[in-house]
Amino acid sequence: MPIVTRPDSTYRADYAACSGCTLCVPVCPVWRQTRDLRMSPEGRCKALQHGAAVADLVHSLETCTLCGACEPVCPENIALMGMVRNLRAQLPDSPGRADLRARLQPADIPKNPTASHEAILVPGAGLRSKPELLGLALKLLGEGSSSTTNDDVSLALDTGVEIPPSVLDEFLPPLSAARHIVVADGGLVAPLRTWLPKARISPLGAWLIARPECRAAIGATDFYVIDTRAYHADYERMVLHYHRLREERGVQLNLDLQRIAIPANAQNQSQRLGETPLDNAAHVSWLLKGRKVNRVITETIEDLVAIRHHSLLPVIHITELAAMQAH
Ligand code: SF4
Ligand code: SF4
Repeated sequence: MPIVTRPDSTYRADYAACSGCTLCVPVCPVWRQTRDLRMSPEGRCKALQHGAAVADLVHSLETCTLCGACEPVCPENIALMGMVRNLRAQLPDSPGRADLRARLQPADIPKNPTASHEAILVPGAGLRSKPELLGLALKLLGEGSSSTTNDDVSLALDTGVEIPPSVLDEFLPPLSAARHIVVADGGLVAPLRTWLPKARISPLGAWLIARPECRAAIGATDFYVIDTRAYHADYERMVLHYHRLREERGVQLNLDLQRIAIPANAQNQSQRLGETPLDNAAHVSWLLKGRKVNRVITETIEDLVAIRHHSLLPVIHITELAAMQAH
């Protein structure tokens, strides 16, 4: 497995260091939906400290969304996401994992564009499921930009399924030839920075909302939902990026008091593999509770879908906002 945590990550300790402080519990979207400590990072660490085997943690491991909210709050700097990925790698194959493993054969991997590009978009399954928004994102990247087609690489990273080196040999060269890599699949931000340390890599949402015309178009009655996976992959820089946005525009953000980004969806391993989904209703309602909001803008398609499904508010994707301002 080529990556678990970034080599420069500050999160290095393992479950043995867990003090049981429970700071990671309230930030965890899975705990908030299930109210079951066994589904929280603390629950997993404590279970492992008391001798639990991977087989005892199957359901807990499947539910983690890898949103990244727990790592920055952990005072012991435990690599909580890396721990989930490592343990998932030891799980017996579910039908979804077996299918993914079968798909990750070099001959079956879709070929990426080989010419060098000014900009290349890594859309992920969410953006690819909305062709009109994918088209808008490519237009915003500019003439001659293109997109990759390797959602299974991202899914394999999340599910602990081994990625054959030849698959990465297919995936990475077109990206390294581009001047700018824009990533809509937040889970790929940290891995790409490890694989391509010299590349210029920007999360799609953070890149678009940095545009003056996009910033000018949002205000205090907007609720702006940050891509939590991209945000926590670059936590210290992103805290400042979005702090400035809030200072400048007064916009409401999905950040808690510790500046941890809270996702509106709990899209977990089982859901991504097409197995059991979690219901996002309670979570969306918790995020919107007490807010005076006229519009929601999301950086991810998963949050867009969850909030549209569970609220009556107008919800748009950041690419729609950026495209409106570009005209
Ligand atoms: S990564 Fe997110 S879902 Fe997983 S344990 Fe941490 S906070 Fe919970
Ligand atoms: S925040 Fe860290 S130390 Fe505290 S309970 Fe969670 S995993 Fe353990």
